Amino acid sequence: MGVHDRSRPRGLRAGRAVSGATLTVDLSAVAANTRLLASRAGGGLMAVVKADGFGHGAAAVARTSLANGASALGVTSVQEALDLRTAGVGAPLLSWLNPVDAAFDDALVADVELGVPGHAHLAAVAAAAARTRRRVRVHLHVDVGMARDGASVTEWGGLCAAARAAEREGHVRVVGVMGHLGWADRPRDPLNRQGRERFVEAVAAARGAGLRPRVRHLAATAATLTLPDTHFDLCRVGAGLVGIDPSGTTLLHPALTLAAPVVGVREVPAGTHVGYGRTYATPRRTRLALLPVGYADVIPRAASGSAWVQLRGRRRKVVGSVSMDCIVVDIGDDAVTPGEVATVFGPGADGEPTVADWARWAGTLEHEIVTGIGPRVGRRVVTAGDLAVSA
Ligand SMILES: *Cc1c(COP(=O)(O)O)cnc(C)c1O
Repeated sequence: MGVHDRSRPRGLRAGRAVSGATLTVDLSAVAANTRLLASRAGGGLMAVVKADGFGHGAAAVARTSLANGASALGVTSVQEALDLRTAGVGAPLLSWLNPVDAAFDDALVADVELGVPGHAHLAAVAAAAARTRRRVRVHLHVDVGMARDGASVTEWGGLCAAARAAEREGHVRVVGVMGHLGWADRPRDPLNRQGRERFVEAVAAARGAGLRPRVRHLAATAATLTLPDTHFDLCRVGAGLVGIDPSGTTLLHPALTLAAPVVGVREVPAGTHVGYGRTYATPRRTRLALLPVGYADVIPRAASGSAWVQLRGRRRKVVGSVSMDCIVVDIGDDAVTPGEVATVFGPGADGEPTVADWARWAGTLEHEIVTGIGPRVGRRVVTAGDLAVSA
């Protein structure tokens, strides 16, 4: 990434720590997770690398997962797809969730397949195909119960008929049918069975309309791990690649470690208020260490009062409210000096807090923490070694 990269303000290039905090991305964790998910999927595995590979780096996660059993890539915007192509990633690549006026011409020139949730998108991608003299490979998207993306069950028959007519005109080829389950993190919820049935009916209706979709895909990470009868031809996994299991059933490997240097230490008497709003006062004389990471970087403000970090191998409570740029931790009598490094989160193997801990403290999901790491945090990508996979 060059100095003239326009996606980030000057001076906030990836890889250069501005705040002093450093995020280490361990690709061997992604590799091990991918191997496990590929073995569970059985058929194809699509690595969903949207939102910069869930904050882990889209191209790096894409390459690592492709080298470890993924057969295709998925993203939720044409621009993310084009960025992967620019980075030299050449695998089959699907983009869905696009606005109807997205850069479909560019997507087709870059050999990107497109998710189509309705008539307007079908017309837009067919027009792009006609303009670029290509045939667009389409995955028709059916809503099986989330009322989010995808055609509703009542629109589905009409969409299939329109897609078949577009196939006959020569610029469209329906290669897939996709759906998405909204409750797979609770594998026993009966809504999963209902969602699967709707999907099966939608595929049958597509076939009845004369379409021949080769790739049926419904399962994301949780269903890949817990609901084998939802796997069909391909599983689309994102969270699992980076060690997040929404179903809570499988030990995956977290890939991120966030380290922050101590920038200042002070000794304070009992009753000292720390940070904004006088939300906290020290109960006794103690020492406080200042770390240069705040809510602009990744630390959720909602974790104030619950969080701790690891410093010198010990748990040290975050005290006072989380600021935009910093947190303060109570280090007791430790003679910590500026420059020593605290672990804000990591895989948890050495007793440090995990992303899952931060998510719990903040009342949110791990997904929100890992996709919220700001541009001031320096980044380092490593391949720490072979991690065991318990398939
Ligand atoms: C993000 C996304 C996925 C991947 O889901 P995970 O639970 O992260 O594996 C799959 N399908 C769709 C439609 C998505 O938006």
